[in-house]
Amino acid sequence: MKVTILYDNEVKKRGLKADWGFSALIETEKASPILFDTGADSPTLLHNMKELDIDPKNMGIIVISHAHGDHTGGLYEILKENETAELYIPSSFRRAFSGRKVTIVGKDAIQIGENVFSTGELGGIEQSLALKTNKGIFVVVGCSHLGVRNILRAAAKFGKVYGIAGGFHGFRDFKTLDELSLISPCHCTQYKKEIKKLFKDETLECGVGLVIEL
Ligand SMILES: [Zn+2]
Ligand SMILES: [Zn+2]
Repeated sequence: MKVTILYDNEVKKRGLKADWGFSALIETEKASPILFDTGADSPTLLHNMKELDIDPKNMGIIVISHAHGDHTGGLYEILKENETAELYIPSSFRRAFSGRKVTIVGKDAIQIGENVFSTGELGGIEQSLALKTNKGIFVVVGCSHLGVRNILRAAAKFGKVYGIAGGFHGFRDFKTLDELSLISPCHCTQYKKEIKKLFKDETLECGVGLVIEL
């Protein structure tokens, strides 16, 4: 399994664009790729996809973590490019998508694809992904508005959590990360420096173009 960062406040490679927002692509062995969030604007997202040789038409599923514009802004252009992808959106994201298969995710965890699960819309705000890998559960988060600890607890239902990537927002209860082997604080994480200092060996600096092989 592979997670590629497509949209982030920072970049890891030349030619890619940084902007406030988040998007990641999840590639599994058999199924078509899953797009998790769509960043704040479509020109930036589509530019980064093109540079990373990712075709928006290939995505089979699009998951939106929560209703904020820095995660949903690129969605409509992607839907124009890709007419078949199924959507998994949290119930708080009230939009109609005609002619498309849409799963409204409520508070309960659900399976999205092989080895890919949603934690459910925790706190009535936000869903995160739990990826089942050989190393354990890898969690992909949008902004963690409801708290990293709560998300990790929900993800632990699927197995022992190995790592996490995404926006941690104002998270600073750092001991919550003690058991993890891979930590990639992205996007809105306010305490990136502190996390890197505390978890030197486990931290992977996030940015557009980062590929996490799992
Ligand atoms: Zn947000
Ligand atoms: Zn955000």
